[in-house]
Amino acid sequence: MSILVVGSIAYDSVETPYGKRDNALGGSTLYFSSAAGIFTPVNVVGVVGDDFNPDDIAFLKTRQVDFEGMHQAPGKTFRWGGKYHENMNKRDTLFTDLNVFETFKPDVPQKYRNTRFLFLANIDPDLQLDVLSQVNNPELVVLDTMNLWIDIKRDALEKVVRKSNILILNDEELMDFSGDDNLVKAVRKIAAMGPSAIVVKRGEYGALLYSDERFFYSPAYPLEKVVDPTGAGDTFAGGFLGYIASKGKTDPATLREAIVYGGVTASFTVEDFSMERLKKLDRPQIEKRFKIMREMVRF
Ligand code: AMP
Repeated sequence: MSILVVGSIAYDSVETPYGKRDNALGGSTLYFSSAAGIFTPVNVVGVVGDDFNPDDIAFLKTRQVDFEGMHQAPGKTFRWGGKYHENMNKRDTLFTDLNVFETFKPDVPQKYRNTRFLFLANIDPDLQLDVLSQVNNPELVVLDTMNLWIDIKRDALEKVVRKSNILILNDEELMDFSGDDNLVKAVRKIAAMGPSAIVVKRGEYGALLYSDERFFYSPAYPLEKVVDPTGAGDTFAGGFLGYIASKGKTDPATLREAIVYGGVTASFTVEDFSMERLKKLDRPQIEKRFKIMREMVRF
């Protein structure tokens, strides 16, 4: 089954304790599709500027990613800058230049409108709502966001949350959005708004799934070295939803396996800057780590 994704396509400038990259390929959509495209076909809706170089996404041709819904508009591609400190669980956003996203009006191609699986990647919640209004009753809507939108677009974000089935957040976003610093209370508060499942990403400490009033916890794949955490959240979502869509099922066992696939997929992203490691990733490499994860938690 294919997935429809809307989100950012970006050039990122990132600094970590291991080095610095300027104008490297990034954006929530591209991280998501390069991960999900390993599992299942992905259709992209988004916008780039006239400075966007199509060669940068040539590696996605070997994955199942369709760019018919990606428009090129006059102006500059979205740009984001971030800096990580010694503790890579925390980062500062240095700048967010919306550029062509400021005037972007999504137009979902007819052939994508009957999608069963929709991923609303991190982007302005008004754009997420716009895309949602153009699709015909998707079976599963998975939503991602970030602190910026929680701070400046809370009303629109709450509207999208009410229309979503699964919300993916990190610890900090969960506390900000719910206004509660107890994880259990925070998750239940958000679930009461509508989503039937909440996924909490906890960086090197793994991920938690709350669904049907039950918790499931997956540790993170153990890594010695994290070079650049950018995109970990989006590739987590790519592995998670990519696996679900490839199975065409949303039962509890599939969701639990999907959480582990999400974590394993993200574990590759962080091993190098930008999408360098993801470019070389394939399903057998993912399966190898998935098997190690199974052994790690069996007792
Ligand atoms: P993650 O590390 O998973 O949170 O995702 C990082 C990606 O999100 C980067 O490649 C950025 O280009 C993109 N990004 C950062 N800020 C925004 C924003 N405000 N809207 C959309 N995408 C963003």
